[in-house]
Amino acid sequence: MQLADELIADGRQQHDNVTLAKGVLSKAYITFARNERRASHLLAFEAESIASRTADLPLRVQATISAGQSWAEAGDFPAALAKLQAAVDLGRQSGSQTSLASALNALTLLYTQMREYDKGFAVLDELLAVTKKLGSPGRMAQAKNTEYGLALDAQQPVRGQRALLVALALERQLGARSMVATTLVNLSDSYLKQEQFQQSLRYANEAIAAARLVKNEQVEATAYLNIGLAQIGLGRLAEGRQSVEKGLAYYDRQGSLPDIQPVLLEYGMALEKAGDMPGAVTAYHRERAISNQLFEKQRQQTVYEMQEKYETEKKQRQIELLSHENQVKSTEIDNRRLQQRVWWLLALVLALAAVIVGLLYRKVRHANVQLKVSNLELQHQSTRDPLTTLYNRRHFQEFMRSHAPVRNPAGTHTGAMFLLDVDHFKQINDSCGHAAGDLVLTTIADTLHEVLRETDMIVRWGGEEFLAFLPSITHDGLDDIARRLLDGVAAQTVHYQGQPVRVQVSIGYAPYPLTPHDQPLSWERSVNLIDMALYLAKAHGRNRAYGLQGFHGLEKTTLEAIEQDLERAWRDGFVDLQVILGGSTALGPPCRAIG
Ligand code: GH3
Ligand code: MG
Ligand code: MG
Repeated sequence: MQLADELIADGRQQHDNVTLAKGVLSKAYITFARNERRASHLLAFEAESIASRTADLPLRVQATISAGQSWAEAGDFPAALAKLQAAVDLGRQSGSQTSLASALNALTLLYTQMREYDKGFAVLDELLAVTKKLGSPGRMAQAKNTEYGLALDAQQPVRGQRALLVALALERQLGARSMVATTLVNLSDSYLKQEQFQQSLRYANEAIAAARLVKNEQVEATAYLNIGLAQIGLGRLAEGRQSVEKGLAYYDRQGSLPDIQPVLLEYGMALEKAGDMPGAVTAYHRERAISNQLFEKQRQQTVYEMQEKYETEKKQRQIELLSHENQVKSTEIDNRRLQQRVWWLLALVLALAAVIVGLLYRKVRHANVQLKVSNLELQHQSTRDPLTTLYNRRHFQEFMRSHAPVRNPAGTHTGAMFLLDVDHFKQINDSCGHAAGDLVLTTIADTLHEVLRETDMIVRWGGEEFLAFLPSITHDGLDDIARRLLDGVAAQTVHYQGQPVRVQVSIGYAPYPLTPHDQPLSWERSVNLIDMALYLAKAHGRNRAYGLQGFHGLEKTTLEAIEQDLERAWRDGFVDLQVILGGSTALGPPCRAIG
């Protein structure tokens, strides 16, 4: 055992599984010899598992055989069969005939034990063939012993005996004294079973001599049993009883009840046959007692094993339950953690989304405000004149399109239109410069705002022409407005680069709407007539206003004729014109001539 342990330590240190498996296997055999079956089995299983991790096939065959035999000893034949069949397969693979023979031998023994005799004989055939090829007398002797065991159990005593005789010859040839002793006792047993008592006696006596040489007490004791039974068979009862008791004494000393039991049965039957009924009954009683004892022992063992198994299983179940609970708990914790993480992530995503939406909203709102401003600017730009910021002509046209002229003869109020044109504006541009001209235009715009009401619409009609549309004014207020416009503009002295620039305008005006045939004229025709009045103001000396007041005797002319030549219509008395003169400020050259 010490050496086996050393081998194991060595194998571990060198990380050498072959050495380790051999050490463990040796330990299994030693433990088996010490009769510690269970420990021996566990070691054999361990050795097999270690060996299976090596490439050493003969070692693996040996370890697998040992594992199979351990299962058989533990009573688990299916497991044993699987292992030993695997051992045979491995043996074939290994190419080692010795290994294969070992595996076949073990398998034959198992089939014998399982009472599968046909299968046993089939395997035996192969065993004998392989062994023959090996040419090893020792192996052949072993195989023949195996054949004997199988033949004996399969009720083929003659074949068994023949095998034993072959084995004996081989063992003698080898000088294998220990094997010889065993074979001799088996031969005596074989003859005994065939009731050849003389032959049985002869081999039993030879067995005793051989057993003494090798100091094998068990073989000697068995030989005595055989001698005794043979003697009883031959009618030598007293002698026979003595011999049997001698043999039994050995087994008694060993306390090996399972071995004694069948002997007692045979003993009883032999005595019964020989007519010794009391002796037979005594033998049977002893057999029964041992049987009961064995049964009780077996029962206790079974109960103990069952209890142990139950406890182990209970513990295993508890462990499984605990580990399951742990798993469930840790899974729960994991789930909760995951859930928490998901919530946090969701909150983060929502917060980010809110920030982004907020930013976008602000941006959109800002863009909308800008758009509104741009729209207003655009609208302003499309309706206003950029220099004076007065309404432009297009806006006025659009405005008039949606304000058709409506006649209101009964009222004291009327609308009115004034068209202004700057006198000699070209001169201002030419002598003072275009910028001075621009300044004049903006100043006139300011003056118009001052003179007129906020509700009046002031339009830049053309380059230096302005139109004022007054939606409501008293009938007699028109001339007054015309005068104020003439004077207002003339009163403004525009200073440009230190030079005074003086400005005068000519004006044409009329109430709106004009109703020559009790029908209101369109705004375009009205403006056209006012423009003609303005032209008259220019033609008659400038700085004055010509106001169209009404029509007379239209039945003697046409409106078209008046529109063709206003001056003539005026002279012919078809229209009334009011003439208002501006202040008599003499106009000198506004600036020094440029260049
Ligand atoms: P009249 O007294 O007969 O009206 O003479 P006038 O010089 O005022 O008339 P005319 O039509 O010959 O000249 C108008 C000038 O006004 C011609 C043009 O160059 C100038 N003008 C038109 N628009 C602008 C403007 O926006 N700024 C400036 N500075 N001059 C302009
Ligand atoms: Mg003009
Ligand atoms: Mg002009």
